[in-house]
Amino acid sequence: MTALDQNTAGATLTVDLGALAANWRRLGADASPATAGAVVKANAYGLGLGPVAQALASAGCRHFFVADLDEGLELRRALADAEIYVLHGLPPGSEGEYAARRLIPIISTPEQIAAFAAFARRGEGAPMAVGVQFDTGMNRLGLDHTHAPSLAAELRPFVLKLVMSHLACAELPEHPMNVLQRRRFDAARAHLAPAPASLANSAGIYLGPEYGYDLVRPGIALCGVDPLARTPNPFAEVAALFGKILQIRDVDRGETVGYGASHSLLRKARIATVAIGYADGFLRALSGQSNRPTSGHGYIGEFKVPVVGRISMDLITLDVTDAPAALAHPGASVQFFGGRQPLDQFAAAAGTIPYEILTRLGSRVHRAYRNAATP
Ligand SMILES: *Cc1c(COP(=O)(O)O)cnc(C)c1O
Repeated sequence: MTALDQNTAGATLTVDLGALAANWRRLGADASPATAGAVVKANAYGLGLGPVAQALASAGCRHFFVADLDEGLELRRALADAEIYVLHGLPPGSEGEYAARRLIPIISTPEQIAAFAAFARRGEGAPMAVGVQFDTGMNRLGLDHTHAPSLAAELRPFVLKLVMSHLACAELPEHPMNVLQRRRFDAARAHLAPAPASLANSAGIYLGPEYGYDLVRPGIALCGVDPLARTPNPFAEVAALFGKILQIRDVDRGETVGYGASHSLLRKARIATVAIGYADGFLRALSGQSNRPTSGHGYIGEFKVPVVGRISMDLITLDVTDAPAALAHPGASVQFFGGRQPLDQFAAAAGTIPYEILTRLGSRVHRAYRNAATP
């Protein structure tokens, strides 16, 4: 792993921007004739907002979704021309910021409509661009779909750039919620002036062409995770996590490892201490305990190395007895996801989903970018 030697960080996430761009193109082809945007909230799912957004823009992506205003401002600094939709809408008092930075709020309450309309009336110049989100059954965020008839008049002061909703069960194709939400979405849209529409996240793209509308909003599939867990995974691998071995010690049978002495060694073992911990997003649920099957593991080359003992804040310990000393030595890298252990399997071992693993990766984890398009 010569590339990893270039930095002094204990943990490194490699991000293949060429694979990311290829995934975006595939999603666009699969969603066609709908256009593919990109959801880059939460620091682009932990991969790094600036490099990810730039790679997608180079590939031709024009429509980006972030969660909140701060993310929108950061993305605007990276991309001067993109259409940036802010899913959480419009906090009171932030109207001027949206206008100045050309951010498009996705409005989800009547109060936001009123506040933005009042702001628009005070200002001069071009009418403000907005999107609206209808809640069609998830009961999480959005205007009530049954209130659509009264909204057309209230939205008249704006340029309506997007009407959207979000699916609760897109990764369950047979679930009746999908059809119900699509019907409610269509009924609500019918009351508004014609505007581009968007319903599908990554999984929603594969529910059928009637879910594509004008714009699709993939996030996790861009990162190489198939929300439908198909075999083989149709998406290219984007993210891989590595940790560096700080120290190796030989420990006698019967000794314990780590906090709480929760792990007793059943044999004489070589224990490698790696510079990654729960502060870096290596979840404590991956801890190993001698009296239950170990949940977390990594790979050194082709050798599987299980977590032993509790995950600590900055360190983990692995049993590397079965890996040759030529590979398992201080300074060597251990791979945790990517390659032999796909991200969804690593997440399952931690009792969670790939989304949570990626977005929990801490700021101490060095992000190393590969295969950026040459301008
Ligand atoms: C996060 C999010 C998405 C992307 O979902 P994926 O499952 O990652 O593709 C799309 N739309 C909305 C409203 C979201 O919050």
